Amino acid sequence: MKGKMESGVFDLAEMKKVGMIQQKQKEYFALRLRAVGGNLKPDQFRKIADIAEKYGDGSIHITTRQGIEIHNVFHTDLEKAREELGEYGLKMGACGPRVRIVVACPGSATCRWGSIETKAISNYLDKKYFGTDTPHKFKMSVTGCPHNCAKASENDIGVMGGILPKWTEDKCIDCNLCVNVCPTDAIERVEGKYILNIPKCINCSICTSSCPVDSWVPEKKGYILHIGGTMGKIPRIASRLTGVVEDIETLKELIDLSIEYYRENGRKKERFGHMIDRIGLETVKKEIMNGTETSKINKS
Ligand code: SF4
Ligand code: SF4
Ligand code: SF4
Repeated sequence: MKGKMESGVFDLAEMKKVGMIQQKQKEYFALRLRAVGGNLKPDQFRKIADIAEKYGDGSIHITTRQGIEIHNVFHTDLEKAREELGEYGLKMGACGPRVRIVVACPGSATCRWGSIETKAISNYLDKKYFGTDTPHKFKMSVTGCPHNCAKASENDIGVMGGILPKWTEDKCIDCNLCVNVCPTDAIERVEGKYILNIPKCINCSICTSSCPVDSWVPEKKGYILHIGGTMGKIPRIASRLTGVVEDIETLKELIDLSIEYYRENGRKKERFGHMIDRIGLETVKKEIMNGTETSKINKS
């Protein structure tokens, strides 16, 4: 690591790149670890506890984005701590103007509402983009369904699982349950038939999960891509770039194009969402979508 730690003058920008964050007690640092999608193994947790006791003051902080930080590490112990953590496959997080740790919910692996498997996607995103430079900080999350537990709408890139439902008449017992449970009133009963109002549908799968006779079934299942969400000083809820995209390769291509677009057009210290507001949402959407085969993308 670069940085003149011995003399007490720190190269803080370089240190931020490898997850070493200076505390207000200037000779002490927080070590930010990289738990991709919030996943760690039991032996890694034990090692984190050991290192916190050996090099810190025993305190461990869990961040709002599933990160784990070991606090109060004296600057001369940073490299030793990092090395020992590395022996257990524990990598460092990042800070500053670059891609941060990917956050994820458990997804379809264990959650009854999950429409997508979240672990493989978050690992893919981490491997491809983590630590790469962007105009400002850049955060990504993968959330298994529109319940949005991993807050896709608060991230620069938010991948959300979802379905597009379809009604089949033959099995329906006309109980009206789907109308009552739909959170957006997207289902209407018209002359004995149940009609989906697609623009109102948020792809949540409550109807397909609730219908007692499987009259509502997923016609499409896949990923909904959100761009430009952020919290912080000037919060902005992410914009939906697509409807349900069934093909993962198309999703990956769109994420690539979105990040590329931000790198080319974002100003220094301008978040992705604020760049979108400056340029105009419709223009940004069009320009990103023009880079892919839009015929593959379901807009619903
Ligand atoms: S977002 Fe959906 S899939 Fe993920 S934990 Fe929440 S309810 Fe489950
Ligand atoms: S919940 Fe199922 S069975 Fe009941 S009205 Fe809706 S589609 Fe028909
Ligand atoms: S998927 Fe959700 S929003 Fe869409 S119709 Fe079904 S319950 Fe309503």
